[in-house]
Amino acid sequence: MTRTQTADGRRGPLEVNGRRYPWPDRPVVVVCVDGSEAAYHERAVADGRMPFLERMLERGADLRADCAMPSFTNPNNLSIATGAPPSVHGICGNYFYDPASDAEVMMNDPELLRADTLFARFSQQGARVAVVTAKDKLRRLLGRGLKGGICFSAEKAGEATEEENGIGKVLERVGMDQPSVYSAELSELVMAAGVSVLESERPELTYLSLTDYIQHKHAPGSPVANAFYAMLDHWFERIDALGAVLVVTADHGMNAKSDGAGEARVVFLQDVLDARLGSAGGPRARVVLPITDPYTVHHGALGSYATVHLPDGTDLAAVAAGLAATEGVLEVLTRDEACARFELPGDRIGELVVVAERNTVLGTSPERHDISGFTEPLRSHGGLSEQRVPFLVNVPVAPGRWLPAGHRLRNFDSYWLATALAAAPAGD
Ligand SMILES: [Zn+2]
Repeated sequence: MTRTQTADGRRGPLEVNGRRYPWPDRPVVVVCVDGSEAAYHERAVADGRMPFLERMLERGADLRADCAMPSFTNPNNLSIATGAPPSVHGICGNYFYDPASDAEVMMNDPELLRADTLFARFSQQGARVAVVTAKDKLRRLLGRGLKGGICFSAEKAGEATEEENGIGKVLERVGMDQPSVYSAELSELVMAAGVSVLESERPELTYLSLTDYIQHKHAPGSPVANAFYAMLDHWFERIDALGAVLVVTADHGMNAKSDGAGEARVVFLQDVLDARLGSAGGPRARVVLPITDPYTVHHGALGSYATVHLPDGTDLAAVAAGLAATEGVLEVLTRDEACARFELPGDRIGELVVVAERNTVLGTSPERHDISGFTEPLRSHGGLSEQRVPFLVNVPVAPGRWLPAGHRLRNFDSYWLATALAAAPAGD
């Protein structure tokens, strides 16, 4: 038991994954706007579509943070939930190759999680916790160990029950129909349901995780993107009015991955490696694209990060040098280098990690990526060029007081900072 009761009856801080979290006196709400490159809200504010956010940033804090690498959804949602990088929680992609079982597996299984979430630990100490995700793929990971509390996905909102999810009749509660998984409404449902729960139950911790469907299809400042951010602005204002400390951040940014004519710029790594290493009797290299998830309409499994498994005896330096010289490739790191620099679990990545340049993605072979049905030029993420994300707070964050000098702000500092702010007297 790490919770302590102080002399004045207040609950003391919790230690989770080596970091200290004060017990908040006000609700804390973290919104992870999936794929929210800063230009999205900046353009929407400039175009007068986010009047609340504009005011919020005048009195609060308009910060930027680095997300965890690779800049994909699952690693970053779990980093925000655990306050720790993938080296600690083990989720380093949406998808990985497990050499032990010789299988490529989705990283959706709670068994793969190696650290407690803040939601689990706070709820086990008696806090009310609400976790609402857009896609169902994250719900089980984020809900692992949760005691009581509310945890459901908008994708399966109609199926949520009191027994399973701590809440039922979600659609009736917010007056919405079940949205498509490929829609802006899926995120709107997360926001509406989260605010409804905040209003009625006032959880100590709330986590609202959206989908990047809009960001994959529409550039910052475009009419569809601006309409999406105007919708968010309404809900941010409601959360603020309910007296919560609000942090708005993102799991990763988003960039165009096409040339001037709108053609996707792709380096097909399997083909490059087969040409180099030979493929008679089967390929020598196994290229794993950790962006892979069931929602390929978003990105065609094309992102700016890949990892490569190679057989023993391969001349890694020569292969790395060859890949690094390929047009569109930014950097090639060995496993040790990638673990040290990106804080990754070494047993869940290959011998090499490849990062693409800003407007390029990495694929395996052309026939394994069908983006012929895409009506918009490819936009995606995964690389260092999508690591910078917004970190917006509705209360002031005095440097030096709340952030140590020289602190590199991460998106997974969200609860660490917000619980500290929410434990301080209002106006402090
Ligand atoms: Zn994402």
